[in-house]
Amino acid sequence: MRLPQIIPGLGRNESNENGQALTPEDIRYQKQILEEFQQLNRHLRNKGMSRPDRTMVRRAFEFAQKAHEGVKRKSGEPYILHPLSVARIVVEEMGLVDVVSASAAFLHDVVEDTDFELRDIEREFGSKTMQIIDGLTKIKGSMMAGQPEVISKQAENFRKVLLTIADDIRVVLVKLADRLHNMRTLGAMRQESKLKIASETLYIYAPLAHRLGLYEIKTELEELAFFHSQENKYREVAAKLEAEKAEMRDYIARFINGIRSALRPTGLDFEVRHRFKSIYSIYLKMLRKNLAFEDIYDKYAIRIILQTREGIERTDCWRVYSIISELYTPNPMRLRDWITVPKENGYESLHTTLGGPENRWVEVQIRTTRMDEVAEKGVAAHWKYKDNGEAIEQPFTDWIAQIRNILANPSRDALEAVQDFKENLKPNDVYVFTPAGEMLRLPVGSSVLDFAYKIHSDVGNSAIGAKVGNRVVSLEYRLRAGEMVEVLTSRKGEPKKEWLHMVQTPRAKDHIKAFLRKQRRELIDKGRDLFRWRARQYGIDEQHPYMKELLAFFMEPTPNEFYHALATRRIAPEKIAEFIEFKKSGKELDSESLAAWDLKRRQMEARFEEAGIDPDHLILSKDAKIESYKLAKCCNPLPGDDILGFNTDQGVVIHRTACPKALQLMSSFGSQIIQARWADGQCGIAFLAAFRVVGLDKQGMLLDLIRVISQRKKINIRKVSIESQDTLFEGIFHLYVSNLEELSKLMSDLQELPNVYTVNRLEFGQEESA
Ligand code: MN
Repeated sequence: MRLPQIIPGLGRNESNENGQALTPEDIRYQKQILEEFQQLNRHLRNKGMSRPDRTMVRRAFEFAQKAHEGVKRKSGEPYILHPLSVARIVVEEMGLVDVVSASAAFLHDVVEDTDFELRDIEREFGSKTMQIIDGLTKIKGSMMAGQPEVISKQAENFRKVLLTIADDIRVVLVKLADRLHNMRTLGAMRQESKLKIASETLYIYAPLAHRLGLYEIKTELEELAFFHSQENKYREVAAKLEAEKAEMRDYIARFINGIRSALRPTGLDFEVRHRFKSIYSIYLKMLRKNLAFEDIYDKYAIRIILQTREGIERTDCWRVYSIISELYTPNPMRLRDWITVPKENGYESLHTTLGGPENRWVEVQIRTTRMDEVAEKGVAAHWKYKDNGEAIEQPFTDWIAQIRNILANPSRDALEAVQDFKENLKPNDVYVFTPAGEMLRLPVGSSVLDFAYKIHSDVGNSAIGAKVGNRVVSLEYRLRAGEMVEVLTSRKGEPKKEWLHMVQTPRAKDHIKAFLRKQRRELIDKGRDLFRWRARQYGIDEQHPYMKELLAFFMEPTPNEFYHALATRRIAPEKIAEFIEFKKSGKELDSESLAAWDLKRRQMEARFEEAGIDPDHLILSKDAKIESYKLAKCCNPLPGDDILGFNTDQGVVIHRTACPKALQLMSSFGSQIIQARWADGQCGIAFLAAFRVVGLDKQGMLLDLIRVISQRKKINIRKVSIESQDTLFEGIFHLYVSNLEELSKLMSDLQELPNVYTVNRLEFGQEESA
């Protein structure tokens, strides 16, 4: 085929090849094409591409322009805008500033879609560019969708292409750029095609980009694929993320300002940025870990990027780490050092999680500009050239060799080969060993913590790290096949909420959750005591009508959440005084705050309902919609007691079924009885109980009793009254306990004390007589 005439002075054409006058739209497009090309050209020049090379790139552009002349894309744009965009992605976004990559990008659709042949390309642009176009042409079209025989054929094509990766990885890079632009312009396609292309993108291209460390491109591919395949879901998550971004803006600014002021005196050349997780990755996390949007805590990260010189990169990163750890308390369990040992895809960075203002955990990533470029651009940043144009990409040599082995094996059929390739991108299991040589199988991505829980829950709960080979690694270190792992434990170690994000296996998750639930209950108890202690002086308690206002004032959905916030100092206990001041001043909460609180409360209730948990651990009969309940003072029912409810003007009152007063009520007002039982599992609320201790009156008796009681952290003393008659000691204890079992255990402990004769629970009405 004859080569096209090269048209100099592009954009000055006033007619098309048929001699028809150009429409204003054509002229606008020509102007756009010219501007975009000039931008690309400027970029090439700024990045140091030689003039002869730039001339070659221009020729590739003009060749493509001629070859695709008169063809329009689905969107109505001239076709050339597509290869031009692909070239710009390759050069400007991937950073592949070489003549072969840029030319191949321009020419990638020429052989497939026009009358030109490979040898035309070879003659004009050389064999290297021709080989890449050859590879690209072979994967043209969709690969992974359709009937089995189609898939098989596509797989065969794909295999061929993958073989060429081993020759020149630029085939894949240009292909990814091509796919990215097609995804960016997917809107013009029919819904059916959109779905097919989007799923293909998620199936093969995004993992491929990830494996090559092309983080930005991988992310964008996923976002676009998610958008085009599940637009409603995408918009839902996106809207929530936007709201959170707005809400977090001031906080992040404050956090960053702290870092800036701390680093400025060091004279280090640094930049602080922040980034939010992508919509798709948040969605995936919600899906995989079965979490609500609100429960994903690591939605953003702060990044500190250092301009430094080779040789002191690592030192400078650690220096920054030590400075910001002075500023905000680091969580040592969340330290990840990918500087000493980079990730397989070349990623280098130092990650830490710091407790920022208001005790919020914030992930901070520390890296140099070089590391940042590797993180964003992956293989493309590693791109180096020898004089003869041969590519070398050191970190990928092994991987490429592996791929080549898989693909070159003639005994496998093509589909199997692609399957293998996929598995190579993402293998399913890793096999690791205990120090005793026992082999354990874990899902890929499993951490030291998964391993520890696989051995035993006690090992998991007390794990602090591990020895892998001869180095010590953190709990979240991801195990690789064949490693020997020795878990390090400490009596001081205990599971943290963040651990849930470090594990993959359901077993580990269940154990951590169980521990956290227990811990939460303890915190709630502690917070309740804190609150009572503060509030007593002001005459407010949970039963008081102020409780609702108090919760709204602090924007806490339930009393338990409020207590938890107090115990963890998310709300400083001193702040209760602020609320008292507020009440004293006679002010009212405005309706906006109340509405906001009410919304939060209802959202939480809905979540609880979904999870089958009653927020206050009491299940009342389904047909009664009960806003609140009270525990009858006459019998002080405890979880574990058989109970029933009475509908009264003041809401539902819960009695023990054995309560004489309840019996009386039942016989008189049977229709107002509501069936009630305690929710399964442990209870976060403490209940008032009373018992009498009788013993020998000796010095120190009361102290002994209180010592035993205070050993049980979940039990708090409300009131004690003592009486001595002759040598007999009688004490009545009013306590808050979480359930019947707890109370029974305590009572039997007290019974064990020397000089104690009897310990009896006070039954209905008895405490009044005491
Ligand atoms: Mn294309």
